[in-house]
This record gives sequence, structure tokens and C-alpha cells, in this order.
Amino acid sequence: MVMTEQTGPRDVAESAATKISRVELILFRYPMVGVQGGIDMPGVTTHRTRMAITVETADGATGSYVGGQANSLAQATACARTILGMDGFARELAYEKIRRQLRKEDRMGAGVIDIALWDLAGKRLGASVASLLGGGQDRVKAYASTWFGGDTGGLASPEAYADFAEACYAKGYRAFKMHGWSDGGIDRDIAAVLELGRRVGGRMALMHDSACSFRTFGDAVAVGRACDEAGFFWYEDPYSDGGLAAHSHRRLRELIKTPLLLGEHVRGLESLANLVLADGTDFVRADPDFDMGITGTMKIAHFAEALGLDVELHAPGPAHRHCMAAIRNTNFYELSMVGPSGAHFSAPVYTCGYSDHLDDVSPDGTFPVPTGPGLGVTYDWDYIRQNATAQTVVE
Ligand SMILES: [Mg+2]
Repeated sequence: MVMTEQTGPRDVAESAATKISRVELILFRYPMVGVQGGIDMPGVTTHRTRMAITVETADGATGSYVGGQANSLAQATACARTILGMDGFARELAYEKIRRQLRKEDRMGAGVIDIALWDLAGKRLGASVASLLGGGQDRVKAYASTWFGGDTGGLASPEAYADFAEACYAKGYRAFKMHGWSDGGIDRDIAAVLELGRRVGGRMALMHDSACSFRTFGDAVAVGRACDEAGFFWYEDPYSDGGLAAHSHRRLRELIKTPLLLGEHVRGLESLANLVLADGTDFVRADPDFDMGITGTMKIAHFAEALGLDVELHAPGPAHRHCMAAIRNTNFYELSMVGPSGAHFSAPVYTCGYSDHLDDVSPDGTFPVPTGPGLGVTYDWDYIRQNATAQTVVE
């Protein structure tokens, strides 16, 4: 009889070492050149604020992440207090406790905490997050996702969108999403949808996202019919219900052929499940920053898998790439926000070569999944601290 050596539970000393002893949260501000109010605008500089977090355990090990939403600092701080003293590996328990603690909020502050815990776990174990998730893909296929259109600037006409789509095609992208004009009108959006279909249809998967700009259900139907005519891959958050009304989108699905993508503004596993089971969307949306981290995102991905649906992750980032590496039922990585004026959406904080810049796509239209331990990225903490606007330490 062959005896197999069993690994028992971690002993008391080891568990004490992995207890979370300190969480630091920093808000920092960085410039974006080439955008104004979300509209592609050459030469104009605006600023974006993001969060940087470090979770530390009693033995000095750390996990970090830069992302999240600046206005979620209060929630993230509450989450930090919740996980203090917990085992740094106990992500499911942290998820459960935070879900209850933030039950009256949208839980947008939970994502950065969970992602930092995954980075911590990966670094402790010497494995990438993708590996811990069982991921088998080393690259993700991207779509170029534009800034909004303006009366002037880089995206001021339907032709400008099509020209930019062709420029993205030349860089290697095989998928393209337009965020149209956010003034509530639909004529320019319809013209751009049809122009994109004429110019790059058949060569690129095309998507439209008004980010809830159209004012009426009727407008949503009209643009959806243009998407049908141009053979669009999906039609996202079309009108001003906020991307929330399951009933109207079930009706919209009966009137148009293009698959809908809703869920970017529906927070968390249970609410997204309700939207999908009410037939409110075709594609399922998830975002590690918005939906309780990598833990929450993978729950949503597996829910979608059980229904035979695809989950599409919102926005770019290292956590997103690691999740996608381990999700079979997904199509594209959102390389947002991009435009002819060259504004970079992501924070200039990576010291390891990681990039979500438009021009850094590979000729085959993909971006790599980082391979180092944890998230596999390193941050410029001097830059983050020099540009900090707020700092909170929980210990
Ligand atoms: Mg969107």
C-alpha cells in the first residue's frame, strides 16, 4: 500500500503571519492630454484620480493594486477595517463580510480590496493570479474603445470614427467600439454606425455604446436598427434608463437583431443575475473594479457560463487580463478610452512595461497577461505619493 503524505491545515504560527495588519489607501491625480469631458480633444489636458492600495500582513508581505473609483474611498476604507486581522488568504470570507457590511451601498469600494488580496496571495505563493484562477491563456484579444464624439476634436464626424477605426485596424485591432455623441441626439450616431459598417464591417467586430445618452426607448430602437443594418457585434447601454430596466431591454431585444450588452451599471452577482434571468441582456457585463473584485468577477463569469452566455469585462487593467485568462466564455478586452488625439486613460504608474496604451497592441490585436507573481506588475510609488490628494491608513 502506497502512503501519500498529506498536507494538513496551516499551523498557528503560519496563520498569525498571514493576518492582515495594515491597509493603506491613496488617491492620486494624473494628467490626460488629448481629452476634455470625455470628448477627444487634441492638446487639452484634464486630470483623472484613481486609488492605490497596499494590504500588508503581520510578516511584512504585501499585495497592491492601482484602480477603482476615486469616489469610493469611503467604502474602500470601511472594507479595509473589515478585513483587518483576517487571514490574508481568506478572500471568500472577506467577500462575504464586505457584502453584508456594504449592503446599503453599491459596493464599488470592495474591488480594490479584493484585487490587492489576490496580488498578496499570488506573491506569497509565487504564482500569477491567472495561474491561481486556473487560467490557460497568455494573451487577450482587444477592442479599441473610443472617447466620446464632439462638435470639434478628433471624433467630430461619422467619417472621423471610420477613419480612426481604419487606423486601429492597421495597428492590429480586429474589434472597435464607438462611444458616440453624448448630447442626446441620435442622427450622428446612426450615421457613424452605418459608416463604420461600410468602411470596416466584415473586417472588425463593431460595437456601439451610448453610455445611456439617448433620451427615449424610441431612440434606442432607431439606433439599434442601424446596428442591425451594419452588422454590429453588440449594442450597449443605449438609453437613459441608466442601463437598468430589464423589461424595456427585453422588449428592445424583440425589436432588433443586434445582441444587447447591459450590466455595466448593475452592481454585483445577484443583481446581474436578476437582470439576465429577466432577459434584459444578451452579453453579461462584469468589472473587477466595480463588482467586488476578481472574486466577484469570476462568480459572475461562472454564472454566465452556467447559462451558456458570454461575459464581457468592462475597461482595461491587469486584474481584468488575469480574469480573462481564466474565462472561456468571453470575447474581447476593452482597451478604453482611445481616440485620434492620443489621450491615455490609464495611470502612468507602471515600472514593469505594462501598458494599456493604444499603440502598444501586438500586431495580432492582443495584449499579454502578466506572468509574474500576483498581478505581475510593479508600481511607481514615488509618482503615486508625489501626486497624492488623500491618504488613509487602517492598522
Ligand atoms: Mg459602457
